Amino acid sequence: MKITRIEAIPVCVPLKKGLTARTAHGELATSPYVIIRVYTDQGLIGLGEGTISPLWSGETQQSTIAAIRDYLAPALIGKNPLELTAIRKTMESIIKLNSFTKAAIEMAMWDIAGKAVGLPVCQLLGGKVRDRIRIKLVVWARDTAGSVAMAEQHLAMGVTCIKVKTGLDPESDIARVRAVREVCGPDIPVTIDSNCGWTVQQARYCLRELTDSRLLLSEQPIPPGDRAAMAEIRRDSPCPIMADESIFTLQDAWLLSVHRAADIFSIYPGKHGGIAATGDIVAVARAAGLRCTIGSNLELGIGTAAMLHVAAAFPEVDTDSFPADTIGPFYHEADLIKEPLDLGPPAAVVPSGPGLGVELDEVQLKKWRTD
Ligand SMILES: [Mg+2]
Repeated sequence: MKITRIEAIPVCVPLKKGLTARTAHGELATSPYVIIRVYTDQGLIGLGEGTISPLWSGETQQSTIAAIRDYLAPALIGKNPLELTAIRKTMESIIKLNSFTKAAIEMAMWDIAGKAVGLPVCQLLGGKVRDRIRIKLVVWARDTAGSVAMAEQHLAMGVTCIKVKTGLDPESDIARVRAVREVCGPDIPVTIDSNCGWTVQQARYCLRELTDSRLLLSEQPIPPGDRAAMAEIRRDSPCPIMADESIFTLQDAWLLSVHRAADIFSIYPGKHGGIAATGDIVAVARAAGLRCTIGSNLELGIGTAAMLHVAAAFPEVDTDSFPADTIGPFYHEADLIKEPLDLGPPAAVVPSGPGLGVELDEVQLKKWRTD
């Protein structure tokens, strides 16, 4: 089998009214992503999704399309899409970084491989170790009343874990978390995600003040880079610390482990450059005795499906204890796939069809593509 063409389609899908995002990284009302179709000489077509976010990885919609058109597609056309390791090596030898771009292409290769043998991607990864992936829904960093209203809305949907965005201002962060904690009652676990927004001193203060809120975990309290500082915060923290923005590469995973800087890794294919690269990071977590869960930068249907296959296939992705962020479709006007995924709440179900198990919806694509 040979790759004959790689198509990169820019799309801009708005977030639903009332659900637009506000975090320490800023406000987000629309998602400028790239949908990938990889064509083969045997008629199989693989789907991929690049959830491009300039403030997250430095990639833009335009840079992704240019990287594929000018660098990756010329090197990959003519290659066998089933030779995934060789495909990964080729991409690494042509362009550094660009993890979301590479992940979008690599996920299409897995889709082709699964379709070629009639098996879902999770089966190619060794088979399912769980059928249901427990999820959490996110309360954005709004004022206290707005955050409480959003938490109530999520709880009414049946979710069994809530994540609250923090990292903007310590006092309002603390008030928001306490208010949501109260709405959740004693049985719904609450996590927080500061998206790098606190200093070390602010993180220490806020985590100490929030001891009574019995947080399930605190995600990325401070900016990446200073692993010793993360380790310091972790030693004093009343709750486990999860690394998100500080874990992109395999080396990041290893160094975080060596520095004892995190209890949990937030992982997903886009951040690490693909499904196989995510599996590599899970192996580091396994060696270090750490747990993982699935993070997100709000994927649409194809990207969410890729995450569900990873969540289903690796024992260390402990979504029962630390619910996943496989939730992007809840927040967007469209998911771009024909049959919507079963995302719960409380739990998502991994698609059972061959490959990623999703089909691109041409009508939605036409509506949201921007080229
Ligand atoms: Mg996060």
